[in-house]
Amino acid sequence: MKTLQDFNFQAKKAIIRVDFNVPLDENFKVTDANRIEAAKPTIDKILADGGSIILMSHLGRPKGKQDQYSLKHIVAKTSEVLGVNVLFAEDCRGEIAQNAAKNLKPGEVLLLENLRFYAEEEAGDENFAKELASLGDIYVNDAFGTAHRAHASTTIIAKFFPTSKCFGMLLAKEIESLNRVLKNSVKPVTAVLGGSKVSSKITVIENILDKVDHMIIGGGMTFTFVKALGGKIGDSICEDDKQELALEILRLAKEKNVQIHIPVDVIAADAFSNDANTKVVDVREIPDGWQGLDAGPKSLENFKKVIMESKTILWNGPLGVFEMENFAKGTITLGNYIAESTANGAFSLVGGGDSVAAVKQFGLEEKMSYVSTGGGAMLEMLEGRDLPGIAAILN
Ligand code: AMP
Repeated sequence: MKTLQDFNFQAKKAIIRVDFNVPLDENFKVTDANRIEAAKPTIDKILADGGSIILMSHLGRPKGKQDQYSLKHIVAKTSEVLGVNVLFAEDCRGEIAQNAAKNLKPGEVLLLENLRFYAEEEAGDENFAKELASLGDIYVNDAFGTAHRAHASTTIIAKFFPTSKCFGMLLAKEIESLNRVLKNSVKPVTAVLGGSKVSSKITVIENILDKVDHMIIGGGMTFTFVKALGGKIGDSICEDDKQELALEILRLAKEKNVQIHIPVDVIAADAFSNDANTKVVDVREIPDGWQGLDAGPKSLENFKKVIMESKTILWNGPLGVFEMENFAKGTITLGNYIAESTANGAFSLVGGGDSVAAVKQFGLEEKMSYVSTGGGAMLEMLEGRDLPGIAAILN
Protein backbone atom coordinates (compact mmCIF):
# COMPACT_ATOMS: atom_id res chain seq x y z
CA MET A 1 0.00 0.00 0.00
CA LYS A 2 1.54 3.30 -1.12
CA THR A 3 1.47 5.92 1.58
CA LEU A 4 2.41 9.54 1.75
CA GLN A 5 5.85 8.68 3.15
CA ASP A 6 6.74 6.93 -0.11
CA PHE A 7 6.69 10.24 -1.97
CA ASN A 8 8.87 13.32 -1.93
CA PHE A 9 6.70 16.27 -2.82
CA GLN A 10 9.49 18.75 -3.50
CA ALA A 11 8.43 21.08 -6.34
CA LYS A 12 5.35 18.88 -6.88
CA LYS A 13 1.72 19.88 -6.79
CA ALA A 14 -0.34 17.52 -4.66
CA ILE A 15 -4.05 17.43 -5.33
CA ILE A 16 -5.70 16.18 -2.15
CA ARG A 17 -9.28 15.03 -1.68
CA VAL A 18 -10.12 16.06 1.87
CA ASP A 19 -13.37 15.91 3.78
CA PHE A 20 -13.93 19.53 4.80
CA ASN A 21 -17.67 19.03 5.04
CA VAL A 22 -17.75 20.94 8.32
CA PRO A 23 -20.74 22.36 10.19
CA LEU A 24 -21.39 26.12 9.81
CA ASP A 25 -23.56 28.38 11.97
CA GLU A 26 -26.09 30.92 10.65
CA ASN A 27 -23.26 33.43 10.06
CA PHE A 28 -21.32 30.83 8.07
CA LYS A 29 -18.69 30.42 10.76
CA VAL A 30 -17.16 26.96 11.21
CA THR A 31 -18.47 25.50 14.50
CA ASP A 32 -16.33 22.35 14.53
CA ALA A 33 -12.95 22.28 12.76
CA ASN A 34 -12.14 18.65 13.60
CA ARG A 35 -12.16 17.56 9.98
CA ILE A 36 -9.78 20.32 8.96
CA GLU A 37 -7.47 19.48 11.85
CA ALA A 38 -7.58 15.82 10.85
CA ALA A 39 -6.06 16.63 7.44
CA LYS A 40 -3.24 18.74 8.90
CA PRO A 41 -0.58 16.00 9.25
CA THR A 42 -0.86 15.16 5.54
CA ILE A 43 -0.72 18.82 4.54
CA ASP A 44 2.23 19.52 6.86
CA LYS A 45 4.28 16.67 5.40
CA ILE A 46 3.77 17.87 1.82
CA LEU A 47 4.61 21.47 2.66
CA ALA A 48 7.67 20.36 4.65
CA ASP A 49 8.89 18.51 1.54
CA GLY A 50 8.66 21.76 -0.42
CA GLY A 51 5.51 20.91 -2.33
CA SER A 52 2.35 22.88 -2.98
CA ILE A 53 -1.21 21.76 -2.36
CA ILE A 54 -4.56 21.88 -4.08
CA LEU A 55 -7.34 20.95 -1.68
CA MET A 56 -10.68 19.72 -2.98
CA SER A 57 -13.77 18.88 -0.96
CA HIS A 58 -17.53 18.97 -0.92
CA LEU A 59 -19.67 20.89 1.55
CA GLY A 60 -23.25 19.84 2.20
CA ARG A 61 -25.61 18.77 -0.52
CA PRO A 62 -25.97 21.77 -2.84
CA LYS A 63 -28.27 21.77 -5.84
CA GLY A 64 -26.03 23.53 -8.36
CA LYS A 65 -24.11 26.61 -7.24
CA GLN A 66 -25.56 27.85 -3.96
CA ASP A 67 -23.68 30.51 -2.04
CA GLN A 68 -24.51 29.02 1.36
CA TYR A 69 -22.51 25.92 0.40
CA SER A 70 -19.49 27.84 -0.88
CA LEU A 71 -16.18 26.71 0.56
CA LYS A 72 -15.15 30.38 0.72
CA HIS A 73 -16.82 30.33 4.16
CA ILE A 74 -14.13 28.01 5.51
CA VAL A 75 -11.02 29.68 4.03
CA ALA A 76 -10.28 31.77 7.14
CA LYS A 77 -10.68 28.80 9.49
CA THR A 78 -8.57 26.57 7.25
CA SER A 79 -5.81 29.21 7.16
CA GLU A 80 -5.93 29.44 10.96
CA VAL A 81 -5.77 25.68 11.50
CA LEU A 82 -3.02 25.09 8.93
CA GLY A 83 -1.04 28.18 9.84
CA VAL A 84 -0.73 29.21 6.18
CA ASN A 85 -2.60 31.77 4.15
CA VAL A 86 -4.94 29.54 2.13
CA LEU A 87 -5.76 30.75 -1.39
CA PHE A 88 -9.22 30.19 -2.84
CA ALA A 89 -10.32 29.36 -6.40
CA GLU A 90 -13.93 30.39 -6.97
CA ASP A 91 -14.45 27.45 -9.27
CA CYS A 92 -13.12 23.90 -9.07
CA ARG A 93 -12.78 23.61 -12.86
CA GLY A 94 -12.20 25.72 -15.95
CA GLU A 95 -9.83 28.66 -16.35
CA ILE A 96 -10.18 29.92 -12.79
CA ALA A 97 -9.02 26.63 -11.30
CA GLN A 98 -6.37 26.03 -13.97
CA ASN A 99 -4.77 29.46 -13.57
CA ALA A 100 -4.82 29.27 -9.79
CA ALA A 101 -3.18 25.85 -9.89
CA LYS A 102 -0.62 26.90 -12.50
CA ASN A 103 0.48 29.91 -10.45
CA LEU A 104 0.83 27.93 -7.23
CA LYS A 105 4.33 28.09 -5.70
CA PRO A 106 6.01 25.66 -3.30
CA GLY A 107 4.65 26.15 0.21
CA GLU A 108 1.30 27.48 -1.01
CA VAL A 109 -2.12 25.96 -0.42
CA LEU A 110 -5.09 26.43 -2.72
CA LEU A 111 -8.65 25.46 -1.84
CA LEU A 112 -11.02 24.78 -4.73
CA GLU A 113 -14.70 25.71 -4.65
CA ASN A 114 -17.24 23.02 -3.66
CA LEU A 115 -16.94 20.00 -5.98
CA ARG A 116 -20.64 19.30 -5.65
CA PHE A 117 -21.53 22.53 -7.41
CA TYR A 118 -21.20 20.21 -10.41
CA ALA A 119 -23.45 17.16 -10.71
CA GLU A 120 -20.51 15.46 -12.46
CA GLU A 121 -18.82 15.00 -9.07
CA GLU A 122 -21.38 12.60 -7.60
CA ALA A 123 -22.05 11.06 -11.01
CA GLY A 124 -18.40 10.02 -11.14
CA ASP A 125 -17.98 11.75 -14.51
CA GLU A 126 -14.73 10.82 -16.17
CA ASN A 127 -14.14 14.12 -17.98
CA PHE A 128 -14.71 16.08 -14.80
CA ALA A 129 -12.25 13.78 -12.99
CA LYS A 130 -9.73 14.31 -15.78
CA GLU A 131 -10.03 18.09 -15.45
CA LEU A 132 -9.43 17.87 -11.72
CA ALA A 133 -6.51 15.51 -12.31
CA SER A 134 -4.88 17.99 -14.71
CA LEU A 135 -4.37 20.42 -11.81
CA GLY A 136 -1.88 18.32 -9.85
CA ASP A 137 1.13 15.99 -10.18
CA ILE A 138 0.30 13.56 -7.35
CA TYR A 139 -3.15 12.51 -6.14
CA VAL A 140 -3.68 12.03 -2.43
CA ASN A 141 -6.93 10.73 -0.97
CA ASP A 142 -7.36 11.68 2.68
CA ALA A 143 -11.17 11.65 2.89
CA PHE A 144 -12.40 8.53 4.66
CA GLY A 145 -15.90 9.98 5.03
CA THR A 146 -16.46 9.72 1.26
CA ALA A 147 -14.30 6.66 0.53
CA HIS A 148 -17.44 4.53 0.05
CA ARG A 149 -18.59 6.71 -2.84
CA ALA A 150 -17.40 6.25 -6.42
CA HIS A 151 -17.38 9.99 -7.08
CA ALA A 152 -15.14 11.82 -9.54
CA SER A 153 -12.78 13.24 -6.88
CA THR A 154 -12.77 10.22 -4.56
CA THR A 155 -12.36 7.36 -7.01
CA ILE A 156 -12.46 8.08 -10.75
CA ILE A 157 -9.64 10.64 -10.62
CA ALA A 158 -7.18 7.97 -9.40
CA LYS A 159 -6.96 6.38 -12.85
CA PHE A 160 -5.20 9.49 -14.15
CA PHE A 161 -2.38 8.92 -11.67
CA PRO A 162 -1.39 5.30 -12.35
CA THR A 163 1.76 5.45 -10.21
CA SER A 164 1.56 8.80 -8.47
CA LYS A 165 -1.33 8.29 -6.05
CA CYS A 166 -1.48 7.45 -2.37
CA PHE A 167 -3.50 7.58 0.82
CA GLY A 168 -3.14 10.56 3.09
CA MET A 169 -2.20 9.95 6.71
CA LEU A 170 -5.76 10.11 8.01
CA LEU A 171 -7.11 7.59 5.53
CA ALA A 172 -4.09 5.31 6.06
CA LYS A 173 -4.74 5.40 9.81
CA GLU A 174 -8.42 4.51 9.32
CA ILE A 175 -7.51 1.53 7.17
CA GLU A 176 -4.80 0.40 9.56
CA SER A 177 -7.16 0.67 12.57
CA LEU A 178 -9.87 -1.34 10.87
CA ASN A 179 -7.34 -3.96 9.82
CA ARG A 180 -6.25 -4.27 13.44
CA VAL A 181 -9.81 -5.38 14.18
CA LEU A 182 -10.81 -7.26 11.04
CA LYS A 183 -7.57 -8.76 9.75
CA ASN A 184 -4.63 -8.97 12.13
CA SER A 185 -6.36 -8.74 15.48
CA VAL A 186 -4.99 -9.86 18.83
CA LYS A 187 -7.43 -12.22 20.56
CA PRO A 188 -9.78 -12.21 22.34
CA VAL A 189 -11.69 -9.88 20.06
CA THR A 190 -14.96 -8.32 21.21
CA ALA A 191 -17.48 -6.37 19.18
CA VAL A 192 -20.03 -4.23 20.98
CA LEU A 193 -22.98 -3.52 18.75
CA GLY A 194 -25.70 -1.20 19.96
CA GLY A 195 -28.06 1.26 18.38
CA SER A 196 -31.70 1.04 17.56
CA LYS A 197 -32.33 -1.63 14.95
CA VAL A 198 -31.21 -5.12 14.00
CA SER A 199 -32.05 -4.36 10.37
CA SER A 200 -29.44 -1.60 10.07
CA LYS A 201 -26.69 -3.69 11.68
CA ILE A 202 -27.41 -7.15 10.34
CA THR A 203 -24.79 -7.16 7.59
CA VAL A 204 -22.17 -5.96 10.05
CA ILE A 205 -23.14 -8.68 12.53
CA GLU A 206 -22.98 -11.38 9.87
CA ASN A 207 -19.60 -10.25 8.57
CA ILE A 208 -17.88 -9.90 11.91
CA LEU A 209 -19.13 -13.17 13.38
CA ASP A 210 -16.12 -14.68 11.60
CA LYS A 211 -13.68 -12.27 13.24
CA VAL A 212 -14.70 -12.03 16.89
CA ASP A 213 -14.73 -14.19 20.01
CA HIS A 214 -17.39 -12.19 21.85
CA MET A 215 -20.26 -10.09 20.67
CA ILE A 216 -22.13 -7.79 23.02
CA ILE A 217 -25.52 -6.86 21.60
CA GLY A 218 -27.22 -3.90 23.28
CA GLY A 219 -29.44 -0.90 22.70
CA GLY A 220 -32.80 -1.23 21.00
CA MET A 221 -31.66 -4.38 19.16
CA THR A 222 -31.79 -6.26 22.46
CA PHE A 223 -35.53 -6.59 22.44
CA THR A 224 -35.89 -8.28 19.07
CA PHE A 225 -33.56 -10.99 20.40
CA VAL A 226 -35.28 -11.24 23.79
CA LYS A 227 -38.74 -11.49 22.24
CA ALA A 228 -37.54 -14.10 19.75
CA LEU A 229 -36.28 -16.12 22.72
CA GLY A 230 -39.72 -15.96 24.35
CA GLY A 231 -39.23 -13.03 26.76
CA LYS A 232 -41.82 -10.35 27.59
CA ILE A 233 -40.53 -6.99 26.38
CA GLY A 234 -43.51 -4.73 27.20
CA ASP A 235 -43.54 -1.68 24.94
CA SER A 236 -39.83 -1.82 24.07
CA ILE A 237 -38.72 -1.13 20.50
CA CYS A 238 -38.82 -4.36 18.47
CA GLU A 239 -38.69 -5.47 14.84
CA ASP A 240 -41.11 -8.37 14.80
CA ASP A 241 -40.17 -9.37 11.28
CA LYS A 242 -36.52 -9.75 12.34
CA GLN A 243 -37.11 -12.31 15.08
CA GLU A 244 -36.26 -15.26 12.83
CA LEU A 245 -33.09 -13.46 11.80
CA ALA A 246 -32.17 -12.90 15.45
CA LEU A 247 -32.48 -16.63 16.14
CA GLU A 248 -30.43 -17.38 13.04
CA ILE A 249 -27.68 -15.06 14.30
CA LEU A 250 -27.64 -16.88 17.64
CA ARG A 251 -27.44 -20.22 15.85
CA LEU A 252 -24.60 -19.03 13.60
CA ALA A 253 -22.73 -17.60 16.57
CA LYS A 254 -22.91 -20.95 18.34
CA GLU A 255 -21.64 -22.71 15.23
CA LYS A 256 -18.73 -20.28 14.97
CA ASN A 257 -17.95 -20.44 18.66
CA VAL A 258 -18.75 -16.77 19.25
CA GLN A 259 -20.12 -15.95 22.69
CA ILE A 260 -23.08 -13.60 22.50
CA HIS A 261 -23.83 -11.35 25.46
CA ILE A 262 -27.23 -9.70 25.67
CA PRO A 263 -28.44 -7.48 28.56
CA VAL A 264 -30.05 -9.49 31.37
CA ASP A 265 -31.64 -6.45 32.99
CA VAL A 266 -32.68 -3.02 31.76
CA ILE A 267 -33.70 0.43 32.95
CA ALA A 268 -37.38 0.41 32.00
CA ALA A 269 -39.39 3.62 31.64
CA ASP A 270 -43.15 4.22 31.50
CA ALA A 271 -42.69 6.66 28.59
CA PHE A 272 -40.05 7.53 25.96
CA SER A 273 -39.04 10.60 27.93
CA ASN A 274 -36.25 11.73 30.22
CA ASP A 275 -38.90 12.56 32.84
CA ALA A 276 -40.52 9.13 32.77
CA ASN A 277 -40.72 6.93 35.88
CA THR A 278 -38.03 4.26 35.77
CA LYS A 279 -37.23 0.92 37.37
CA VAL A 280 -34.70 -1.85 36.89
CA VAL A 281 -36.32 -5.04 35.58
CA ASP A 282 -35.33 -8.43 34.20
CA VAL A 283 -35.05 -8.04 30.44
CA ARG A 284 -37.47 -10.98 29.93
CA GLU A 285 -40.12 -9.52 32.24
CA ILE A 286 -40.79 -5.98 31.14
CA PRO A 287 -44.38 -5.07 32.08
CA ASP A 288 -46.82 -3.74 29.49
CA GLY A 289 -46.71 0.05 29.41
CA TRP A 290 -42.96 0.00 30.11
CA GLN A 291 -40.01 0.02 27.70
CA GLY A 292 -36.33 -0.76 28.12
CA LEU A 293 -34.25 2.33 27.40
CA ASP A 294 -30.84 1.44 28.84
CA ALA A 295 -28.79 -1.53 30.03
CA GLY A 296 -29.21 -2.39 33.73
CA PRO A 297 -26.50 -2.85 36.42
CA LYS A 298 -26.18 -6.65 36.17
CA SER A 299 -25.78 -6.42 32.39
CA LEU A 300 -23.03 -3.85 32.82
CA GLU A 301 -21.20 -6.08 35.28
CA ASN A 302 -21.36 -8.93 32.75
CA PHE A 303 -20.11 -6.68 29.96
CA LYS A 304 -17.29 -5.41 32.16
CA LYS A 305 -15.85 -8.90 32.54
CA VAL A 306 -15.84 -9.41 28.79
CA ILE A 307 -14.34 -6.00 28.02
CA MET A 308 -11.58 -6.37 30.61
CA GLU A 309 -10.50 -9.70 29.15
CA SER A 310 -10.50 -8.44 25.57
CA LYS A 311 -7.36 -7.47 23.69
CA THR A 312 -9.22 -5.98 20.72
CA ILE A 313 -12.50 -4.09 21.03
CA LEU A 314 -14.77 -2.69 18.35
CA TRP A 315 -17.60 -0.44 19.48
CA ASN A 316 -20.46 0.61 17.24
CA GLY A 317 -23.74 1.93 18.62
CA PRO A 318 -24.91 3.11 22.06
CA LEU A 319 -26.27 0.76 24.75
CA GLY A 320 -29.27 2.98 25.45
CA VAL A 321 -31.00 6.21 24.58
CA PHE A 322 -27.89 8.18 25.59
CA GLU A 323 -29.31 11.45 24.25
CA MET A 324 -31.49 11.49 27.39
CA GLU A 325 -29.48 11.92 30.57
CA ASN A 326 -31.43 9.31 32.53
CA PHE A 327 -30.71 6.63 29.94
CA ALA A 328 -27.07 7.47 29.21
CA LYS A 329 -25.51 5.56 32.08
CA GLY A 330 -25.10 2.25 30.24
CA THR A 331 -23.32 3.91 27.33
CA ILE A 332 -21.09 6.00 29.63
CA THR A 333 -20.22 3.03 31.83
CA LEU A 334 -19.40 0.83 28.86
CA GLY A 335 -17.25 3.66 27.43
CA ASN A 336 -15.35 3.80 30.72
CA TYR A 337 -14.77 0.03 30.71
CA ILE A 338 -13.39 0.24 27.19
CA ALA A 339 -11.19 3.17 28.24
CA GLU A 340 -9.86 1.13 31.18
CA SER A 341 -9.22 -1.92 29.04
CA THR A 342 -7.43 0.31 26.51
CA ALA A 343 -5.25 1.74 29.28
CA ASN A 344 -4.40 -1.89 30.14
CA GLY A 345 -3.17 -2.49 26.59
CA ALA A 346 -6.22 -3.43 24.53
CA PHE A 347 -6.73 -1.90 21.08
CA SER A 348 -10.09 -0.13 20.86
CA LEU A 349 -11.78 1.21 17.76
CA VAL A 350 -14.96 3.27 17.96
CA GLY A 351 -16.88 3.96 14.80
CA GLY A 352 -20.25 4.65 13.28
CA GLY A 353 -22.12 7.93 13.86
CA ASP A 354 -23.81 7.61 17.23
CA SER A 355 -21.09 5.93 19.26
CA VAL A 356 -18.61 8.52 18.02
CA ALA A 357 -21.03 11.25 19.16
CA ALA A 358 -21.39 9.52 22.54
CA VAL A 359 -17.64 9.12 23.03
CA LYS A 360 -17.10 12.81 22.27
CA GLN A 361 -20.00 13.94 24.44
CA PHE A 362 -18.71 11.99 27.44
CA GLY A 363 -15.08 13.07 27.03
CA LEU A 364 -13.78 9.58 26.24
CA GLU A 365 -12.30 10.29 22.81
CA GLU A 366 -8.69 10.54 24.00
CA LYS A 367 -9.00 7.28 25.92
CA MET A 368 -9.85 5.14 22.90
CA SER A 369 -7.10 3.81 20.63
CA TYR A 370 -8.86 5.20 17.57
CA VAL A 371 -12.11 7.01 16.86
CA SER A 372 -13.13 6.74 13.22
CA THR A 373 -14.03 9.83 11.19
CA GLY A 374 -16.32 8.11 8.69
CA GLY A 375 -19.77 6.84 9.68
CA GLY A 376 -21.07 5.27 6.49
CA ALA A 377 -17.61 4.34 5.21
CA MET A 378 -16.77 2.60 8.49
CA LEU A 379 -20.02 0.62 8.45
CA GLU A 380 -19.41 -0.52 4.88
CA MET A 381 -15.93 -1.72 5.79
CA LEU A 382 -17.35 -3.59 8.77
CA GLU A 383 -19.86 -5.14 6.38
CA GLY A 384 -16.88 -6.55 4.50
CA ARG A 385 -17.32 -4.42 1.39
CA ASP A 386 -14.48 -3.00 -0.68
CA LEU A 387 -14.69 0.77 -0.67
CA PRO A 388 -14.23 2.24 -4.18
CA GLY A 389 -12.08 5.14 -2.92
CA ILE A 390 -9.67 2.74 -1.26
CA ALA A 391 -9.66 0.23 -4.11
CA ALA A 392 -8.84 3.03 -6.58
CA ILE A 393 -5.58 3.76 -4.76
CA LEU A 394 -4.66 0.11 -4.25
CA ASN A 395 -5.26 -0.95 -7.88
P1 AMP B 1 -28.06 3.54 15.38
O1 AMP B 1 -28.14 4.76 14.52
O2 AMP B 1 -28.72 2.34 14.82
O3 AMP B 1 -26.65 3.27 15.87
O4 AMP B 1 -28.95 3.86 16.67
C1 AMP B 1 -28.63 4.87 17.57
C2 AMP B 1 -29.86 5.24 18.30
O5 AMP B 1 -30.37 4.13 19.00
C3 AMP B 1 -29.64 6.32 19.34
O6 AMP B 1 -30.27 7.48 18.91
C4 AMP B 1 -30.29 5.76 20.59
O7 AMP B 1 -31.11 6.69 21.25
C5 AMP B 1 -31.13 4.62 20.08
N1 AMP B 1 -31.39 3.59 21.09
C6 AMP B 1 -30.48 2.94 21.83
N2 AMP B 1 -31.08 2.12 22.71
C7 AMP B 1 -32.41 2.24 22.53
C8 AMP B 1 -33.56 1.66 23.15
N3 AMP B 1 -33.44 0.79 24.15
N4 AMP B 1 -34.77 2.03 22.71
C9 AMP B 1 -34.88 2.92 21.70
N5 AMP B 1 -33.85 3.51 21.08
C10 AMP B 1 -32.61 3.17 21.49
